[in-house]
Amino acid sequence: MFINGHWSAAKDQKQFSVINPATGKEIGRVPDGGRFEAEMAVTAAHESFHKWSFLTAYQRSAFLYDVHGLMMDNLEHLAGVMTEEQGKPIQAARNEVRYGADFLLWFAEEAKRIYGRTIPSARSDQRFMVLKQPVGVVAAVTPWNYPVSMITRKLAPALAAGCTIVIKPAEATPLCAIEIFKLLEKAGLPDGVANLVTASDPKPVGDVFVTDRRIRKITFTGSTAVGKMLAQKAALQMKRVSLELGGHAPFIVCRDADPVNAAKGLSLVKFLNTGQACISPNRIFVHTSMKQAFLDALKEKVIRMKAGPGVTPGVSIGPLVNGSAIEKVDRQVKEAVSKGADIVTGGFRIMDNELDKGYFYAPTILDNVTPDMLIYREETFGPVAPVIGYENDDDLLAMANDTDYGLAAYVYTRDYGNAMKFFEGLRFGIIGINDINPTSAAAPFGGMKESGLGREGSIEGIDEYLETKLGGFSLR
Ligand code: ADP
Repeated sequence: MFINGHWSAAKDQKQFSVINPATGKEIGRVPDGGRFEAEMAVTAAHESFHKWSFLTAYQRSAFLYDVHGLMMDNLEHLAGVMTEEQGKPIQAARNEVRYGADFLLWFAEEAKRIYGRTIPSARSDQRFMVLKQPVGVVAAVTPWNYPVSMITRKLAPALAAGCTIVIKPAEATPLCAIEIFKLLEKAGLPDGVANLVTASDPKPVGDVFVTDRRIRKITFTGSTAVGKMLAQKAALQMKRVSLELGGHAPFIVCRDADPVNAAKGLSLVKFLNTGQACISPNRIFVHTSMKQAFLDALKEKVIRMKAGPGVTPGVSIGPLVNGSAIEKVDRQVKEAVSKGADIVTGGFRIMDNELDKGYFYAPTILDNVTPDMLIYREETFGPVAPVIGYENDDDLLAMANDTDYGLAAYVYTRDYGNAMKFFEGLRFGIIGINDINPTSAAAPFGGMKESGLGREGSIEGIDEYLETKLGGFSLR
């Protein structure tokens, strides 16, 4: 753990092991922190807040530029740790490190653009001034699926805004977090400004985050269930919250689209990170007239995907995170089949070529999926593409919006009017129109409905860490 500028063990010396999901083997041991360590970290962040927030924006910016440079210099090392710890193919890990570094660069720039404003008053002897100030100490809880970028996406805007921070990474991926903190230390992080608490049990640390009055903001990426629970508890002290939660993205192939092109797009976005992404398409709506052409093109791509450890050349399907992830995916597939879905390809755990030691599930296409199936309603977080045929274009928008989630949605169409109809009508925070990668540090990321609150990245991303203060000045 990294608390108040020092690497430290847990008070009782307890540790927990980190497992490579491709091999099932232990790859490291890290301190198992709890309430005591979390409180120490909050104290450190609290005590350093005054000094950090009073640095000039240019000083905070310079620090973030330095960390960005270090992250790019260490890209290969970070990607290697990520592949070993999280499982994604090495090329995807490199991409994530670049994406993660982008947030440092973006917010190094935004730090200098925390503008206030003046507002004309109706009274000639009055002036209004609006000031933006850091919210205070931030607690961040991050997930394992994007173990580097989900940290920098919170850390960079918090530090840019003048906040100090305590981070608890996911129990499956503490090593990536530790590597990031080594770079922060190397860049000269002042003591206490950013702190890392690793823990095998998130609850005691989470309890400190929601109950300690010194924490003024919680930022969380993870499941909707945990996000709601943290938000409820945070409400007791009116802490600010940002939540990036689950999704259940529709992928709409309009009647005018090219089914082969759409299938190519789907194969790229659906199986990214082995489907373990909150913006992964989970309900694929294809007009019945072109469904077969779509399925044929998709199958062509999917059967060529190679599963294996991310370090092996040519692998595009890494392992799932653990055994219960495999069980969840398999349960959803079996339930769908029992209700009439057809397996086009895949549909099983991979047990050959030594892959039985890890958590590999074959990339899968399901056809004839219907609304009564679990997979139609629940987030899958695995390499399964559920295809739903539709007849009537007028029902499409309602079908796509028929979910409690509202994170990402994708539409393939060649018609401009159609594109605009879906862009405006879909109740999701991120819409890809013929675009399977609508994400960037420069663009606001976040969901509607039960997919969360607030946005990360872009100009919105720093606002989440700022208070708005109004000054009224009477000149009388
Ligand atoms: P997933 O099911 O994808 O692992 P979670 O929401 O359980 O999603 O995990 C996301 C993050 O939330 C992880 O860092 C995890 O440790 C943390 N987390 C899970 N439960 C709690 C909790 N009760 N309090 C605080 N953090 C939690």
